[in-house]
Amino acid sequence: MAADADNPQRRVPSVDAMLKPLAGAVSRWGHGQVAEQVRSVLSQLRAEISGGASPGVDLPSLCAQVEAALEAREVASLRPVLNLTGTVLHTNLGRASLPAQAIAAVAKVAGTPSNLEFDLDSGQRGKRDSHVEGLICELTGAEAATVVNNNAAAVLLVLNTLAMNREVPVSRGELVEIGGSFRIPEVMQRSNCTLVEVGATNRTHLKDFRQAISEHTALLMKVHTSNFRVEGFTSVVDESELAQLAHEHDLPLVVDLGSGSLVDFAALGLPDEPTAAQSIANGVDIITFSGDKLLGGPQSGLIAGRRDLIEQINANPLKRALRLDKMTLAALAEVLKLYRNPQTLLQELPTLRQLTRPLADIQEQARRLQSAVAALMGPVFEVSVTDCASQIGSGALPVENIPSAALRITPCDAEEARLRELSSSLRHLPLPIVGRLHKGSLWLDLRCLSADADLLDALQPLAEPSA
Ligand SMILES: *Cc1c(COP(=O)(O)O)cnc(C)c1O
Repeated sequence: MAADADNPQRRVPSVDAMLKPLAGAVSRWGHGQVAEQVRSVLSQLRAEISGGASPGVDLPSLCAQVEAALEAREVASLRPVLNLTGTVLHTNLGRASLPAQAIAAVAKVAGTPSNLEFDLDSGQRGKRDSHVEGLICELTGAEAATVVNNNAAAVLLVLNTLAMNREVPVSRGELVEIGGSFRIPEVMQRSNCTLVEVGATNRTHLKDFRQAISEHTALLMKVHTSNFRVEGFTSVVDESELAQLAHEHDLPLVVDLGSGSLVDFAALGLPDEPTAAQSIANGVDIITFSGDKLLGGPQSGLIAGRRDLIEQINANPLKRALRLDKMTLAALAEVLKLYRNPQTLLQELPTLRQLTRPLADIQEQARRLQSAVAALMGPVFEVSVTDCASQIGSGALPVENIPSAALRITPCDAEEARLRELSSSLRHLPLPIVGRLHKGSLWLDLRCLSADADLLDALQPLAEPSA
């Protein structure tokens, strides 16, 4: 047995000895958190000594370790990134960015009581959906509307309300899966209704639906094939014909529009996308669509259509579980209000501004930034300006691309490892930059870059020697 005095473990300071110089940290983070980090640093030190190492044990550097660990815990997990992927509505990057008006409205109601469910005229209980229902009706032509957590929730709630324990015919060409976990057949199952597949993958006719209708049928359903396209020998049933067939049998027609749009995309020079108003005009009884796809608002699901059906939907106990919170309602109302003025909409709503940004503007920005970015990248990379193709994203119009321009960063030695390292170091910047690895280069599609300085400031830490 070694003499106690020679035992290197004895050089490890006590928790109390560490806490004294950490008084400042204790007043900022509280005793509990600091003591926990101290114990963790000390136990690591003991483990290193047991492993035969002889690490330094000076108090100031151990305290600095504790403080660094506490600082690191403070960094928010959810934080902004620069989306230069070229996918405007990137689901993994939070889809639509909100306009300033919506952000201000969120801030207004977040920290104070509001009339969320309180009717200021009568002094009685009000309805939270009342803050957006009128706007949705005005913009879609629907009689009534309600809102929930997202479009997946909207579809679930509509089916569970209107088709529980009954059958729902859907075309085989529309049994889509949206991003992993949302699949029409599985949502049907969870809504407690029975999917009746009609037609074939590539062709479905009105008579297929007619044959599928029985006394067990609850409604007819159409799903927008958001993220794929069947090409070649194809045929889909026209929405207004399907509405007519449904109504002949006293059944509602429900359409999951997916993205859904409140403006005519073709008129904006973008790929065509069905509008909510067209579907209502075609006689669809209930439409559902996302708030944070082409609409450009907060995550939410909009349900609009016949008043009697909306009333049934609102009476479903699941509605409570899927309802929107006050901050989302505040943001959604402001976004919808922007649609009242088509002249300013494209400038004020980030999603539409980004989608309609002229190619020449993006190309010019790329040329302006090229040399500054090249200087920051250093001599091992080549930075060129090149045309590319942006995508709308979120399953909207997957096939169509929008011409755009990118800074293409290529390792001079064509080393794949160097490219991955670059991509990783950009993701670890204080404002992470997310680009796209493609054909041996990192592509920074500038469509969503509003100001040159946003990119240059984000890259600046690369120029500073790391501490
Ligand atoms: C995106 C999409 C959904 C899911 O919408 P979320 O708002 O993401 O929940 C459902 N159906 C279709 C057709 C879609 O495109």
